[in-house]
Amino acid sequence: MDTKARQLLDKLNTEHSLQTEEYQYLLDHRNQELMDLAAEYARKYQQQHYGNKVFIRGLVEFTNFCRNNCLYCGIRRDNHNCERYRLSADTIVECADEGYALGFRTIVLQGGEDFSYSDDDICDIIRRIKASHDDLVVTLSIGERSKESYQKYYEAGARRYLLRHETANPELYAKLHPAELSWDNRMECLKNLKEIGYQVGAGFMVESPSQNTYDLAMDLKFVEEFKPDMCGIGPFISHKETPFANSPSGTLETTLFCLSLLRMIYPQVLLPATTALGTIHPKGREMGIKAGANVVMPNLSPTGVRKKYALYDNKICTGEEAAECLGCLGQRMESIGYKIVTDPGNRAGL
Ligand code: SAH
Repeated sequence: MDTKARQLLDKLNTEHSLQTEEYQYLLDHRNQELMDLAAEYARKYQQQHYGNKVFIRGLVEFTNFCRNNCLYCGIRRDNHNCERYRLSADTIVECADEGYALGFRTIVLQGGEDFSYSDDDICDIIRRIKASHDDLVVTLSIGERSKESYQKYYEAGARRYLLRHETANPELYAKLHPAELSWDNRMECLKNLKEIGYQVGAGFMVESPSQNTYDLAMDLKFVEEFKPDMCGIGPFISHKETPFANSPSGTLETTLFCLSLLRMIYPQVLLPATTALGTIHPKGREMGIKAGANVVMPNLSPTGVRKKYALYDNKICTGEEAAECLGCLGQRMESIGYKIVTDPGNRAGL
């Protein structure tokens, strides 16, 4: 093993902080030995804070209409071959009921930026879910909105918000997004969400087009400093109807290594083994957990719409009913010595 890389990993293990250049050095010197050691350190923190428990979040992808045109995303506005759908409030509430019955205590309502749902609509949905299930944590993932809107959702009962920062480098952000979207606004939204009191999930794509290891190192440094409660990462995967159709997908190895480093940077962080990770490798999510992740997010969307929420090609879990999805993930976790639990799944220390 590279001596300096080993020293840096040990330093990270005790100090939970490195300089951006040092993170880059680790990323540049990644090999199996270094990955194994990072995973070993990461699992130590995972065991300390979460044991062999894996938290579940039920994901309801309630609309694939989007006003945005992110260059990597399959549901971008300019993809006219995307069959659009939106779920009614009744259907969304039914998904939450089903999730609750299956043992979920966190539900994530995710969608494109679809402003046909007004703030009042979103608040009504949150209130209806909370009225029937007081102990179900409602998480939103509906993109960039004003601080006033975020405040209204919070008052209606939402307590968590997932908004990946996508990349901590403003220049790369500008290459991945159209001019009307700005890195500054993304950051402003994350700051606002934190100020309001949400548990916040940030996150980034691994090996997105033209991303280099310094960019990734910036993402690690960002997580070290911003300390989001959750950090969702997954490999970039191309979608054939986007400008990045021919860009190579991110790798399993880099994603797993990033997961281990994130666990070491912020031992208590909630770290999902994402669907994208399960898409690039049949055992991707299991490997993600073994690298330090502690959350999985099975799909609760009605099966009829699953395939239409295609952010990238070949997305897995688009066929099964929610219960099957959960059963499958439960078995997968048990096969590696972990256990899915019925629990709201707060970040350790909250
Ligand atoms: N509209 C919401 C939800 C976006 S979808 C929002 O803006 O937050 C959730 C995440 O999927 C995105 O944040 C992005 O990181 C990821 N994603 C989108 N396209 C992807 C692709 N082609 N490959 C991998 N991940 C992708």
